[in-house]
Amino acid sequence: MTRIAYVNGRYLPHRRAAVHVEDRGYQFADGVYEVIAVDHGRLVDAGPHLERLARSLNELSIARPMTDAALRHVLGEVVRRNRVRRGILYLQITRGVAPRSHAFPDGAKPALVVTARSLPPADPAAAEKGCAVITVPDIRWKRCDIKTVSLLPNVLAKQQAKDAGAFEALQVDADGFVTEGSAANAWIITEAGVLVTRPADHAILDGVTRRSVMALAARAGIAVEERPFTVAEAKGASEAFLTGTTAMVMPVVRIDGTPVGGGKPGPFSLRLLADYTEWAAGGAGTP
Ligand code: PLP
Repeated sequence: MTRIAYVNGRYLPHRRAAVHVEDRGYQFADGVYEVIAVDHGRLVDAGPHLERLARSLNELSIARPMTDAALRHVLGEVVRRNRVRRGILYLQITRGVAPRSHAFPDGAKPALVVTARSLPPADPAAAEKGCAVITVPDIRWKRCDIKTVSLLPNVLAKQQAKDAGAFEALQVDADGFVTEGSAANAWIITEAGVLVTRPADHAILDGVTRRSVMALAARAGIAVEERPFTVAEAKGASEAFLTGTTAMVMPVVRIDGTPVGGGKPGPFSLRLLADYTEWAAGGAGTP
Protein backbone atom coordinates (compact mmCIF):
# COMPACT_ATOMS: atom_id res chain seq x y z
CA MET A 1 0.00 0.00 0.00
CA THR A 2 1.30 3.49 -0.89
CA ARG A 3 1.74 5.69 2.15
CA ILE A 4 0.09 9.09 1.79
CA ALA A 5 1.26 12.36 3.33
CA TYR A 6 -0.52 15.69 3.47
CA VAL A 7 1.68 18.62 2.43
CA ASN A 8 0.29 22.14 2.19
CA GLY A 9 -3.09 21.32 0.76
CA ARG A 10 -2.27 18.13 -1.15
CA TYR A 11 -2.36 14.41 -0.37
CA LEU A 12 0.79 12.97 -1.93
CA PRO A 13 2.57 9.62 -2.10
CA HIS A 14 4.99 9.63 0.84
CA ARG A 15 8.07 9.34 -1.38
CA ARG A 16 7.09 12.52 -3.23
CA ALA A 17 6.14 14.48 -0.10
CA ALA A 18 8.58 17.38 0.22
CA VAL A 19 8.82 20.93 1.49
CA HIS A 20 10.75 23.86 0.02
CA VAL A 21 14.44 24.33 0.94
CA GLU A 22 13.57 27.75 2.37
CA ASP A 23 10.88 26.43 4.70
CA ARG A 24 11.69 28.04 8.05
CA GLY A 25 11.24 24.73 9.81
CA TYR A 26 14.16 23.39 7.81
CA GLN A 27 16.34 26.49 8.22
CA PHE A 28 15.53 27.72 11.76
CA ALA A 29 13.49 24.92 13.41
CA ASP A 30 10.82 27.65 13.34
CA GLY A 31 7.84 25.38 13.82
CA VAL A 32 5.80 23.21 16.15
CA TYR A 33 4.47 19.67 16.06
CA GLU A 34 2.27 17.08 17.70
CA VAL A 35 2.40 13.29 17.79
CA ILE A 36 -1.00 11.69 18.38
CA ALA A 37 -1.63 8.00 18.98
CA VAL A 38 -4.12 6.15 16.80
CA ASP A 39 -6.08 3.33 18.41
CA HIS A 40 -8.86 1.41 16.63
CA GLY A 41 -8.50 3.97 13.82
CA ARG A 42 -9.29 6.89 16.16
CA LEU A 43 -7.04 9.68 17.42
CA VAL A 44 -6.39 9.30 21.15
CA ASP A 45 -6.82 12.53 23.14
CA ALA A 46 -7.21 14.64 19.95
CA GLY A 47 -8.76 17.55 21.88
CA PRO A 48 -5.87 18.11 24.34
CA HIS A 49 -3.30 17.64 21.54
CA LEU A 50 -4.99 20.30 19.39
CA GLU A 51 -5.30 22.63 22.38
CA ARG A 52 -1.57 22.26 23.06
CA LEU A 53 -0.84 22.84 19.36
CA ALA A 54 -2.86 26.07 19.43
CA ARG A 55 -0.93 27.18 22.52
CA SER A 56 2.46 26.39 20.92
CA LEU A 57 1.49 28.35 17.79
CA ASN A 58 0.30 31.24 19.88
CA GLU A 59 3.49 31.38 21.98
CA LEU A 60 5.54 31.64 18.76
CA SER A 61 3.11 33.96 16.90
CA ILE A 62 2.70 31.45 14.07
CA ALA A 63 -0.67 31.76 12.33
CA ARG A 64 -2.99 28.75 12.21
CA PRO A 65 -3.01 27.29 8.71
CA MET A 66 -6.73 26.41 8.98
CA THR A 67 -9.58 26.12 11.44
CA ASP A 68 -9.64 23.32 14.01
CA ALA A 69 -12.55 21.66 12.19
CA ALA A 70 -10.63 21.68 8.88
CA LEU A 71 -7.50 20.40 10.62
CA ARG A 72 -9.44 17.55 12.25
CA HIS A 73 -10.75 16.66 8.80
CA VAL A 74 -7.22 16.51 7.34
CA LEU A 75 -5.96 14.41 10.28
CA GLY A 76 -8.84 11.98 9.85
CA GLU A 77 -8.19 11.75 6.11
CA VAL A 78 -4.49 10.97 6.61
CA VAL A 79 -5.37 8.20 9.09
CA ARG A 80 -8.01 6.84 6.73
CA ARG A 81 -5.93 7.01 3.53
CA ASN A 82 -3.08 5.19 5.28
CA ARG A 83 -5.49 2.64 6.77
CA VAL A 84 -3.99 3.08 10.22
CA ARG A 85 -5.85 1.13 12.89
CA ARG A 86 -3.09 1.36 15.49
CA GLY A 87 -0.13 3.67 15.12
CA ILE A 88 0.84 7.31 15.25
CA LEU A 89 -0.01 10.51 13.46
CA TYR A 90 2.58 13.27 13.10
CA LEU A 91 1.70 16.85 12.30
CA GLN A 92 4.01 19.80 11.89
CA ILE A 93 3.32 23.46 11.30
CA THR A 94 6.12 25.87 10.43
CA ARG A 95 6.11 29.62 9.89
CA GLY A 96 6.31 28.90 6.15
CA VAL A 97 8.63 29.57 3.21
CA ALA A 98 10.55 32.84 2.94
CA PRO A 99 14.03 34.10 1.90
CA ARG A 100 16.39 33.25 4.78
CA SER A 101 16.44 36.06 7.34
CA HIS A 102 16.01 35.61 11.10
CA ALA A 103 13.12 37.99 11.82
CA PHE A 104 9.56 36.88 11.02
CA PRO A 105 8.89 37.29 7.28
CA ASP A 106 5.99 39.41 6.11
CA GLY A 107 3.14 37.48 4.59
CA ALA A 108 4.56 33.93 4.80
CA LYS A 109 1.85 31.29 4.86
CA PRO A 110 2.23 28.66 7.61
CA ALA A 111 3.15 25.24 6.21
CA LEU A 112 1.35 22.09 7.34
CA VAL A 113 2.64 18.54 6.97
CA VAL A 114 0.78 15.47 8.27
CA THR A 115 1.92 11.84 8.13
CA ALA A 116 0.65 8.66 9.77
CA ARG A 117 1.95 5.15 10.09
CA SER A 118 0.85 1.86 11.54
CA LEU A 119 2.69 0.32 14.46
CA PRO A 120 2.59 -3.24 15.78
CA PRO A 121 0.57 -3.68 19.01
CA ALA A 122 2.51 -2.72 22.15
CA ASP A 123 4.49 -5.70 23.43
CA PRO A 124 3.23 -6.40 26.97
CA ALA A 125 6.53 -8.18 27.72
CA ALA A 126 8.46 -4.91 27.21
CA ALA A 127 6.43 -3.08 29.85
CA GLU A 128 6.55 -6.06 32.21
CA LYS A 129 10.35 -6.01 31.95
CA GLY A 130 10.57 -2.25 32.38
CA CYS A 131 13.38 -0.12 31.02
CA ALA A 132 16.75 1.32 31.99
CA VAL A 133 17.42 5.07 31.85
CA ILE A 134 20.51 7.20 32.23
CA THR A 135 20.75 10.78 33.48
CA VAL A 136 22.18 13.66 31.45
CA PRO A 137 22.45 17.40 32.04
CA ASP A 138 19.46 19.30 30.63
CA ILE A 139 21.05 21.63 28.06
CA ARG A 140 17.79 22.89 26.51
CA TRP A 141 16.35 26.40 26.32
CA LYS A 142 13.99 27.96 28.88
CA ARG A 143 10.71 27.33 26.97
CA CYS A 144 10.46 23.54 26.93
CA ASP A 145 6.70 23.99 27.45
CA ILE A 146 6.42 24.83 23.72
CA LYS A 147 6.40 21.73 21.52
CA THR A 148 8.84 23.02 18.90
CA VAL A 149 10.62 20.97 16.25
CA SER A 150 13.87 22.31 17.71
CA LEU A 151 14.83 18.97 19.27
CA LEU A 152 18.60 18.72 18.97
CA PRO A 153 19.30 18.43 22.74
CA ASN A 154 16.60 15.74 22.93
CA VAL A 155 18.16 13.92 19.97
CA LEU A 156 21.60 14.03 21.65
CA ALA A 157 20.15 12.83 24.96
CA LYS A 158 18.32 9.92 23.32
CA GLN A 159 21.46 8.92 21.41
CA GLN A 160 23.47 8.96 24.67
CA ALA A 161 20.85 6.65 26.15
CA LYS A 162 21.02 4.36 23.14
CA ASP A 163 24.83 4.27 23.26
CA ALA A 164 24.59 3.30 26.94
CA GLY A 165 22.12 0.50 26.17
CA ALA A 166 19.30 2.42 27.88
CA PHE A 167 15.80 3.29 26.67
CA GLU A 168 15.67 6.93 27.75
CA ALA A 169 17.70 9.76 29.21
CA LEU A 170 16.36 11.67 32.20
CA GLN A 171 17.44 15.28 31.81
CA VAL A 172 18.60 17.00 34.99
CA ASP A 173 18.50 20.76 35.64
CA ALA A 174 21.31 22.86 37.17
CA ASP A 175 19.87 22.30 40.70
CA GLY A 176 19.96 18.50 40.38
CA PHE A 177 16.23 18.08 39.76
CA VAL A 178 14.92 15.82 37.01
CA THR A 179 13.09 17.75 34.30
CA GLU A 180 11.87 15.01 31.92
CA GLY A 181 13.01 12.41 29.40
CA SER A 182 13.98 13.22 25.81
CA ALA A 183 10.47 12.31 24.65
CA ALA A 184 8.54 11.47 27.82
CA ASN A 185 7.60 12.87 31.22
CA ALA A 186 9.18 11.40 34.35
CA TRP A 187 7.43 10.12 37.49
CA ILE A 188 8.33 8.43 40.75
CA ILE A 189 6.28 6.74 43.46
CA THR A 190 7.31 7.28 47.06
CA GLU A 191 7.38 4.66 49.84
CA ALA A 192 4.06 6.14 51.00
CA GLY A 193 2.50 5.40 47.59
CA VAL A 194 2.37 9.01 46.40
CA LEU A 195 2.85 9.70 42.69
CA VAL A 196 5.31 12.54 42.13
CA THR A 197 5.95 14.43 38.90
CA ARG A 198 7.39 17.83 38.13
CA PRO A 199 4.86 20.67 37.82
CA ALA A 200 4.19 21.75 34.23
CA ASP A 201 6.47 24.79 34.33
CA HIS A 202 8.60 26.12 31.46
CA ALA A 203 11.20 23.37 32.04
CA ILE A 204 9.03 20.53 30.71
CA LEU A 205 6.45 19.73 28.09
CA ASP A 206 3.01 19.37 29.67
CA GLY A 207 2.42 15.87 28.29
CA VAL A 208 -1.05 14.91 27.20
CA THR A 209 -0.36 11.40 28.53
CA ARG A 210 0.86 13.00 31.78
CA ARG A 211 -2.51 14.68 32.23
CA SER A 212 -4.47 11.54 31.37
CA VAL A 213 -2.39 9.47 33.80
CA MET A 214 -2.97 12.08 36.49
CA ALA A 215 -6.71 11.81 35.94
CA LEU A 216 -6.56 7.99 35.95
CA ALA A 217 -4.53 8.07 39.19
CA ALA A 218 -7.13 10.33 40.81
CA ARG A 219 -9.86 7.94 39.67
CA ALA A 220 -7.92 5.02 41.23
CA GLY A 221 -7.56 6.95 44.50
CA ILE A 222 -3.78 7.37 44.14
CA ALA A 223 -2.41 10.65 45.55
CA VAL A 224 -0.47 12.84 43.09
CA GLU A 225 2.02 15.51 44.11
CA GLU A 226 3.37 17.94 41.50
CA ARG A 227 6.87 18.87 42.69
CA PRO A 228 10.41 18.52 41.41
CA PHE A 229 12.44 15.48 42.54
CA THR A 230 16.18 14.81 42.48
CA VAL A 231 18.05 11.94 40.82
CA ALA A 232 18.89 10.58 44.31
CA GLU A 233 15.20 10.56 45.26
CA ALA A 234 14.34 8.79 42.00
CA LYS A 235 17.00 6.14 42.59
CA GLY A 236 15.63 5.53 46.09
CA ALA A 237 11.96 5.63 45.03
CA SER A 238 9.77 2.56 45.31
CA GLU A 239 8.83 2.87 41.62
CA ALA A 240 9.56 5.10 38.64
CA PHE A 241 8.01 5.35 35.20
CA LEU A 242 7.80 7.44 32.05
CA THR A 243 4.72 8.67 30.19
CA GLY A 244 4.34 9.77 26.59
CA THR A 245 2.30 9.21 23.47
CA THR A 246 4.66 6.54 22.18
CA ALA A 247 6.00 5.20 25.52
CA MET A 248 2.47 5.19 27.07
CA VAL A 249 3.30 4.19 30.68
CA MET A 250 6.78 2.65 30.76
CA PRO A 251 8.14 1.38 34.10
CA VAL A 252 11.74 2.38 34.84
CA VAL A 253 13.72 -0.33 36.63
CA ARG A 254 17.25 1.09 36.49
CA ILE A 255 18.66 4.62 36.70
CA ASP A 256 22.35 4.95 35.81
CA GLY A 257 22.70 1.24 36.62
CA THR A 258 21.05 1.51 40.07
CA PRO A 259 18.01 -0.78 40.40
CA VAL A 260 14.78 1.03 41.29
CA GLY A 261 12.17 -0.79 43.35
CA GLY A 262 14.12 -4.04 43.36
CA GLY A 263 14.75 -3.81 39.59
CA LYS A 264 11.21 -4.86 38.66
CA PRO A 265 8.15 -2.83 37.60
CA GLY A 266 5.98 -2.14 40.63
CA PRO A 267 2.23 -2.49 41.16
CA PHE A 268 1.37 1.22 40.76
CA SER A 269 3.15 1.50 37.39
CA LEU A 270 1.55 -1.69 36.09
CA ARG A 271 -1.88 -0.64 37.32
CA LEU A 272 -1.57 2.76 35.60
CA LEU A 273 -0.29 1.10 32.43
CA ALA A 274 -3.30 -1.25 32.40
CA ASP A 275 -5.74 1.60 33.12
CA TYR A 276 -4.17 3.81 30.45
CA THR A 277 -4.14 1.05 27.81
CA GLU A 278 -7.77 0.22 28.49
CA TRP A 279 -8.79 3.86 28.46
CA ALA A 280 -6.90 4.66 25.20
CA ALA A 281 -8.46 1.67 23.44
CA GLY A 282 -11.93 2.59 24.68
CA GLY A 283 -12.08 6.02 23.07
CA ALA A 284 -13.79 7.53 26.09
CA GLY A 285 -12.20 10.98 25.63
CA THR A 286 -10.12 12.62 28.34
CA PRO A 287 -10.43 10.54 31.56
N1 PLP B 1 8.33 15.51 27.07
C1 PLP B 1 8.90 15.62 25.85
C2 PLP B 1 10.17 16.37 25.72
C3 PLP B 1 8.30 15.03 24.73
O1 PLP B 1 8.87 15.14 23.51
C4 PLP B 1 7.10 14.30 24.90
C5 PLP B 1 6.45 13.66 23.77
O2 PLP B 1 6.93 13.64 22.67
C6 PLP B 1 6.55 14.22 26.19
C7 PLP B 1 7.18 14.84 27.25
C8 PLP B 1 5.26 13.48 26.42
O3 PLP B 1 4.19 14.21 25.87
P1 PLP B 1 2.86 13.50 25.38
O4 PLP B 1 2.36 12.69 26.52
O5 PLP B 1 1.96 14.62 25.03
O6 PLP B 1 3.24 12.65 24.21
